Amino acid sequence: MIHVHGRDGGGAPSQDKEVYREIIEAIREAAPDLIIQVSTGGAVGMTPAERLAPVELRPEMASLTCGTVNFGRGVFENPLPLIEEFAATLKKYGVRPELEIFDVGHLDTAFSLMRRGVVEPPLHFDFVLGVPGGMAGDPQNLFYLVNRLGDGHTWSVAGIGRHELPLAALAIVLGGHVRVGFEDNVYYSKGRLASSNAELVERVARLAAELGRPLATPAEARRILGLGGSVG
Ligand code: ZN
Repeated sequence: MIHVHGRDGGGAPSQDKEVYREIIEAIREAAPDLIIQVSTGGAVGMTPAERLAPVELRPEMASLTCGTVNFGRGVFENPLPLIEEFAATLKKYGVRPELEIFDVGHLDTAFSLMRRGVVEPPLHFDFVLGVPGGMAGDPQNLFYLVNRLGDGHTWSVAGIGRHELPLAALAIVLGGHVRVGFEDNVYYSKGRLASSNAELVERVARLAAELGRPLATPAEARRILGLGGSVG
C-alpha cells in the first residue's frame, strides 16, 4: 500500500484533486496492483474541504484521523463533526478508511464511531507514535494500543523520526503491519539521510523477511484489509 501526500509545483503540500489525479495515474502506470491510500490529513492549517478533495477520485483507501492533536507548535484539528463528515464522504465514494490514532483518546473515538455505525468493522488502524504533542514513540504505548484492539481488527504502526525503525521491528514481531517513508522520517540512520522512500521500504522488507513475516503481495494485502480487490 502506498500512502500519498500531494505537493504542488513549488513543493508545498497540496490536496488539490488534479495534483492527486496526476500522482495516482503515475503510480498506476508504474505499479498497477498497488493499493493507493490518499491522505485526508493534508497539512496543518488546511480547510476540511481541501483535505477531502482527493477522496472524490475514489482511491481504495484514505486516512481518517480520529481526533485533534497538538502537532509540534501547531494544532492538527479533527473535531468530532469533521471526523463524521469525513467518514460519511469516504462511505459515499466507497473508500475504506485507515483510522489514524495519534493519541489514546482517538482509539476510544474510533470505537465509538464503530458502535454508532459511522465506520464499519473490521477496522484498520494506523498508530502514529512520536509526533511532538501526540503519544510518544515508546514501546509501552504500542503495547497498550494493541492490547486494547480486540480481535478482528488490523493495525500498522508509523513511528516518527528515530522511532520509525524500532517501532517497525516491534510491530513485525507483534503481528502488526508497518508504515515507513518520508512523511514520518527522512533518515536512514543517525545523521544519514535516506536516499529514497524505497530505501526505507527495502530495509523494513528485509527485516520482516528475517523475522519470518515476508511482505504480502497486493492481492494478499487486499484480503488482509478486506478490500474488494478491483483496481479502478
Ligand atoms: Zn499522511
